[in-house]
Amino acid sequence: MVLGVQSHVFTLNDSGGEQRSWATLDLEIVAAYTRYRVPELISIFTVLAGLIFGSFLNVCISRLPQHESIVRPRSRCPVCRSPISSWDNIPILSWILLRGRCRACRSHISRRYPLIEATTAALFLLSILQFGMSFQGVAACVLCWLLLGLAAMDAETMLLPDALTVPGTALGVAYSGFYAGEHFFAWRAAGESLLAAAVAAAFIMLIRWLYWLARRREGIGLGDAKLLAMIAAWMGLWQAGLALFLAVVAAAAYGLILIALRRRLATASKLALRIPLGAFLGAGGIFALFEGMDALKWYFDLYR
Ligand SMILES: [Zn+2]
Repeated sequence: MVLGVQSHVFTLNDSGGEQRSWATLDLEIVAAYTRYRVPELISIFTVLAGLIFGSFLNVCISRLPQHESIVRPRSRCPVCRSPISSWDNIPILSWILLRGRCRACRSHISRRYPLIEATTAALFLLSILQFGMSFQGVAACVLCWLLLGLAAMDAETMLLPDALTVPGTALGVAYSGFYAGEHFFAWRAAGESLLAAAVAAAFIMLIRWLYWLARRREGIGLGDAKLLAMIAAWMGLWQAGLALFLAVVAAAAYGLILIALRRRLATASKLALRIPLGAFLGAGGIFALFEGMDALKWYFDLYR
């Protein structure tokens, strides 16, 4: 049920000493923050995989909230509808070469495309460096992909599609079972993961109900409940709680800044104040994945 726990998985160059070789990714800063040294070739492969999955994630972010197929049709320019050739669809590179414009009609292509591709690649690399070339490392990549995609969708459209949260929760339950399974699959661990997901969802539903009683309008979405359930399924309740806490603090700060800006810009005063909590929840989940265990340990040590 826990992603963050240290595991003794296979690592190269894990002799503990200051052993260095040309074949290891040896950036001082990266090494200072991560547990594993990974051969350069594996790092390059991981980054390339991240770019490709990031590119696919962009398609999902554009289409899933609209309930469109992610397979067909081929990518098209949203303005002039001309199909985008494979050459113009290379992650990051094409965007830079085309200077962020469509080849056919010169209209702007969102900066979101290269940003998501680069962020996915960075998170994939971080996953492998933090959790090793292991089942856990691959699982961390999958979870990052889901969280980043959902965060971006919520920021853009205020929607958290079931098409990601529901299978994402099921994957978290399955991961927990396989991770804890000594021989094959640990039903108990999978059951605990499912229970954590249910508790997390119930907690958000309770807040949602209380808010409705007090204000008679929707304060927190059903999508947020499913997203927190997904985080709990993968990482357990402690890390899900941390992700929620960070998300609420960040969303509140964001809300206060919006209110302050709105007072200045009188023209925008009619705009409803809507905060994409899911975007902050996604970011909080990614933080909990990489730093959650250390943060929780630090917190509990304060009371020891
Ligand atoms: Zn175009």
